[in-house]
Amino acid sequence: MKDSYLIHAGKIVTISDLGTIYDGGMMISDGKIAEVGDWLTLKKRFPTLQRHDYSDYVITPSLVDCHTHLLEFAPSSLYPITASTHVLAGKSILLHALMSGITALGEQICGHPNSDFAMDDYRSFIKDFPLDISFAATSISIGFDRLAHFTSITKSKSVHQSDLSDPLLVKIMAEQTDYPGENLFINATPANFTPDEVPRAGEIIYSLNELKQIVRIFHEHDKKIGVHVAGVEGIEMALEAGIDVLHHAHGISKKQIEKAALHGVKIVATPLGGTHLEPNSPKNIVELLNNNIDVSIATDSYLPPYQNVEWLPFDDQKLRGPDTLMLIANPGMKQLKENGYDENQILALLTANPAEILGKADRFGRLKKGMDANFLVAKGIPGLEIVDIEDIRKVYFRGEKVVDRG
Ligand SMILES: [Zn+2]
Repeated sequence: MKDSYLIHAGKIVTISDLGTIYDGGMMISDGKIAEVGDWLTLKKRFPTLQRHDYSDYVITPSLVDCHTHLLEFAPSSLYPITASTHVLAGKSILLHALMSGITALGEQICGHPNSDFAMDDYRSFIKDFPLDISFAATSISIGFDRLAHFTSITKSKSVHQSDLSDPLLVKIMAEQTDYPGENLFINATPANFTPDEVPRAGEIIYSLNELKQIVRIFHEHDKKIGVHVAGVEGIEMALEAGIDVLHHAHGISKKQIEKAALHGVKIVATPLGGTHLEPNSPKNIVELLNNNIDVSIATDSYLPPYQNVEWLPFDDQKLRGPDTLMLIANPGMKQLKENGYDENQILALLTANPAEILGKADRFGRLKKGMDANFLVAKGIPGLEIVDIEDIRKVYFRGEKVVDRG
């Protein structure tokens, strides 16, 4: 029992059958959660174990941001780096995510004109980093005057629009992808450029037949597929083609919400922006949940915030990162609370639901016996009661304290 200890919490939001436990505790052993329950009971059962007193704090699962571009696009957007310092910048960005209470990421590798790293390079860069990172192999279509297309397989070399549906290329992407991220862009994206730089953002890139063929290849490889999509026309194609996860789904209609629910399609909402349309409003997020859709909230960072929407507190176009996850999720989470949702269900949008998207729901995202001991010691429920990363006092990853604000 060398690596075992007890955690005493004022309140634990488990996101499991146990719900919220006041004056609760956890027994952590070998990086896993061995017990969760009532503090007095745990204290009696394990009288000799070392104790950590967080009785003035809330303990929750640590956060999961299942849609990010931190390693490929962000480094050169934030720092004047070269190929030699790209990885250093990436690691600094990851450290910042960790300090924001995030211990699991879903990273998109899309291909990038100035970066010639392959998926396996990114995997090896982060091997010893205290973060659980899943990678999505994707292609990308950027809405410049002349559309630009890249793929994770062809890296910095741009490809033709027709190559995006090439069965051989799609097969390799299906093999390489860890999870249904934005594996392809049904609409050309503004990426992290300002609107004037990307006039063709929103244009539909695929035919329905091409999409169906791509979905078939992913499913033949036992992989789910996710897409970047916004607008009624693109969303209709995604639903028709049998796509499993819609990223963004900005502008989804009421009818399409019902159709997505019927087919068990999951949605990754990105309230910060990310497409040519107005991003997911608090009202949209409530409507998705009211229709029993499995919703995750992600940052899609780094991104310039969408302008002139009242639920975003930003008044400039500075690129925002994973440190804004709680802030951009807050208006929707508060509205869910007002609509009678339980705090466990609400926090699931930043923890259990994105863990499910990553295919790792049995590993983290809830505080439950047998799960990785990935948790936060915070001044309130992340995203619902707190939005400032300073209010996350400690971050634990696989039982180890990796952030400590005293
Ligand atoms: Zn994205």
